[in-house]
Amino acid sequence: MTTAAGLTTVTIRRAADTSALITAADLPPARHFVDGTFVEGSADRVIDVVDPCTESVIARIPEGTAEDIDRAVAAAVAAKGQWARLLPKERSELLHTIADRLAANTELLSKLESANTGKPLAVSTDDVGQAVDTFRFMAGALRATTSMAAGDYAENHLSVILREPLGVVGVVTPWNYPLLMAAWKIAPILAAGNTLVIKPSEQTPLTTLKFAELVADLLPPGVLNVVNGYGAVVGARLAEHPDVNMIALTGSVASGRAVARAAADSLKRVHLELGGKAPVVIFPDADLAAAASSLRVAGFWNSGQECGAACRVLVHASVAAQFVDQLVSEVRKLVVGEPLAGEDVEVGPMVSKAHFDRVTGYLERAKKEDVRVATGGGALDGPGYFVAPTVLADVPEGAEAAREEIFGPVITVETFTDEDEAVRRANDVPLGLSASVWTENARRSHDIAARLDFGTVWVNSHLVLASEVPWGGFKGSGYGRDLSVYALDDYARTKHVMHNHGR
Ligand code: NAD
Repeated sequence: MTTAAGLTTVTIRRAADTSALITAADLPPARHFVDGTFVEGSADRVIDVVDPCTESVIARIPEGTAEDIDRAVAAAVAAKGQWARLLPKERSELLHTIADRLAANTELLSKLESANTGKPLAVSTDDVGQAVDTFRFMAGALRATTSMAAGDYAENHLSVILREPLGVVGVVTPWNYPLLMAAWKIAPILAAGNTLVIKPSEQTPLTTLKFAELVADLLPPGVLNVVNGYGAVVGARLAEHPDVNMIALTGSVASGRAVARAAADSLKRVHLELGGKAPVVIFPDADLAAAASSLRVAGFWNSGQECGAACRVLVHASVAAQFVDQLVSEVRKLVVGEPLAGEDVEVGPMVSKAHFDRVTGYLERAKKEDVRVATGGGALDGPGYFVAPTVLADVPEGAEAAREEIFGPVITVETFTDEDEAVRRANDVPLGLSASVWTENARRSHDIAARLDFGTVWVNSHLVLASEVPWGGFKGSGYGRDLSVYALDDYARTKHVMHNHGR
């Protein structure tokens, strides 16, 4: 529907069936998972877990303490020797069995994830499928590790390179893909022979706890431990703990800095997957229709709460008006709604009231700047934390909305006039996670991809991932890689053993 001012009014598709997405029986135990069992916390405080479509509390989980972390780390330390000694084949078979268990529970996990995050079932089902594939890939990859050939590199000295586990890895995950981000960490960490303690986001702990419940009988006690709670308490203790050998965080830049600082005293390894603000550089020779329809998905997948989201278009001035029209017409087709409102729902709510306020705050400030709201532009009626899919056009260089990670259903559009300007402006953000370039010119596609300062660059595509290829950023987006054999390397250490065999 279009108003007299030319803006669309978006209606939220509500579920016709008022029965809940999940029942009490679907919920995991509201406890920590330590040493192979669900345990009470050391304090009695709880954290409310909220359904962002209805704003109602669906579970209460214990608020963990530093003492709870210490107990979980002790369990992980006790378990690490036996887990590390398993043959690659044995660990691999266990990871395959975990993948089977996840796959068999796809519907339950998807519904739990959607109930806790509001994400469309199509997105949560895709998340579970990708989590399964991550375990399957790591199960295979761990049996095929390679390194420098053994041989004499110094006279009469035989060098052998060993790949060893690090020991105990601490993991902190965000709320946007709770199960999938957990899988991206747990699979390579276990594959490389480590044990771990994971702290899910305090807002979205349900699928991580359900994962622990589902695999409890598969893993030896202490190999996987889950402690709930706030980042500043539980996450911080994990990052500073002297018996934790590495801390891996997916989250915001501020949390990444805090974790790196906390890790400094013990000099543990740090692995950071932080924010993104992906530029989408569109040249006049690009297939504009293909770019617009791709951005409908890549900009709004998971309601734009996606670190690789195609959120910042830089389009050549000569085709800008035409492209904005095509993009707006694609974005207006997006179906916004609750998870049970139909399989065609594409966009759900923001995960929390705080995040909803943050995203709508960016939109209010953008409207006061010299920015044109081409479609959307603000909050939708509650209940629920829904925001209209938005395109902001005529965005001036350096505008806040085009520089900072909004992490919502918002695409900004700026223009450029030549290649050098496009590259300079695309790179002129503190984050460096991912980017895309759209052109039919082969020279240009190679050249621009090489000059973009981002960990992933797509050409004529955006937001396509695979378990075989690495994911991770440059600059403020952190360091370390998820997925692929590069993640296996990150969670292992290299030892050189040299034998003097001279007579
Ligand atoms: P967040 O940083 O607020 O929280 C992430 C996790 O860190 C939570 O579990 C939180 O409790 C914990 N945390 C917070 N402060 C901490 C501290 N001082 N010490 C230890 N842990 C702490 O981020 P979020 O809002 O949950 O997630 C959104 C952010 O995550 C966005 O910036 C997004 O770009 C980023 N993200 C990045 C990737 C990637 O692959 N690069 C993937 C998903 C999300």
